[in-house]
Amino acid sequence: MKGVAILGSTGSVGVSTLDVIRRNSQEMRAVALTALSNDERLFHQCHEFRPDVAVLVDRDAAARLEKQVKAAGLPTEVLGGAESLKVAARWPQAQSVMAAIVGAAGLLPTLAAARAGKQLLLANKEALVMAGNLLIEAVHAGGGVLIPIDSEHNAIFQCLPGDIRAGVRPPGVRRVLLTASGGPFLRLPVERLVRVTPDEACAHPRWAMGRKISVDSATLMNKGLELIEACHLFGLAADEVDVVVHPQSIVHSMVEYLDGSVLAQLGNPDMRIPIAHALAWPQRRPSGADRLDLVAIGRLDFEAPDMERFPCLAYAQAAARAGGTAPAILNAANEMAVQTFLERRLNFAAIPEVIEAVFETVETIGNVSDLEVILQADAQARSAAAAVMQHPVTELHA
Ligand code: NAD
Ligand code: MG
Repeated sequence: MKGVAILGSTGSVGVSTLDVIRRNSQEMRAVALTALSNDERLFHQCHEFRPDVAVLVDRDAAARLEKQVKAAGLPTEVLGGAESLKVAARWPQAQSVMAAIVGAAGLLPTLAAARAGKQLLLANKEALVMAGNLLIEAVHAGGGVLIPIDSEHNAIFQCLPGDIRAGVRPPGVRRVLLTASGGPFLRLPVERLVRVTPDEACAHPRWAMGRKISVDSATLMNKGLELIEACHLFGLAADEVDVVVHPQSIVHSMVEYLDGSVLAQLGNPDMRIPIAHALAWPQRRPSGADRLDLVAIGRLDFEAPDMERFPCLAYAQAAARAGGTAPAILNAANEMAVQTFLERRLNFAAIPEVIEAVFETVETIGNVSDLEVILQADAQARSAAAAVMQHPVTELHA
């Protein structure tokens, strides 16, 4: 029986992970669950899965959960506060840790799981974008394995030789091709982007996901973050990762080898496929996803990304090339801009403008080997972004 800790169990990836565990309950068990503040959903999860421990960052919500858990006679210990996320990440009964917190908030617990030698199932791409070198080092120091959950990186992982090591360039690879759906605004006239609403941005044509990553998919920043993610995971340079728009989201990514062979992984767009792959690895278990019917789909299209419509992708490429603290600055500025857009205080087209303005004020430091330097860059970029959005040029508001 494999014990699994899920950081971010109430989110989109967290709920899909629990669904795969539910379908494979003879093989795996959820031993630790964590969330930010949704005590109601976490209580339902505790009721069904009876984990050893449940963590809520919000202490008031944790107190409410504890009451309910006691009243229901569940065996679950309830902890509150952000520090307790690390307790769940290091939970002794967990062999695997699903890192599915959204954003920079996931970095410290993800690092803790890596250092503790857990098998790290990594959905929280922002952690890798911010501190890729440190996270890969922590995986090596802990002696665990890293299996990517992001569908593109999981696809690449499946197309690479079985003995690959996190951060080490696999032999014989010429480049990897990350596929992008193009998001909901692939064909929208550019001048209409200033007026799109958060709900329109989150109505992804292929994937149902949390709101932050949905907005990132609409700006193509998601693909930019994934480019940086791929460089760290597979030891590649930025120009060895190419992006190709593939609106059907059936080919999840590809690896091109030196001899001209291109290997791809295909499947319906359902996160339970990469999640089940990672949970069962190196075996295979059912995920609950519909089987792929290529005849019904009929055709698969590919096109180049429009870098003018999607400047975030170019900013991410530049940050990947620059290295050092540049990706952490990019990520922090983006998180701030996306949050402000979701609160309807910034227009969609201004998201890249905020990022550009932050890079003009925050200096990049190359060659980082210290977590403090990264956390400082993150904090600086957040205050620079807040300043930009507080004194907006007129175009920042719709
Ligand atoms: P979500 O918003 O649906 O869920 C986020 C989870 O993190 C929730 O459980 C929430 O309680 C928790 N959380 C949020 N802020 C927190 C904080 N400050 N401290 C502790 N916990 C906090 O997000 P999601 O769509 O499930 O995405 C999770 C991660 O997986 C993201 O990094 C995303 O980029 C990545 N990812 C998601 C998908 C997808 O299909 N949803 C696909 C690929 C990668
Ligand atoms: Mg992805």
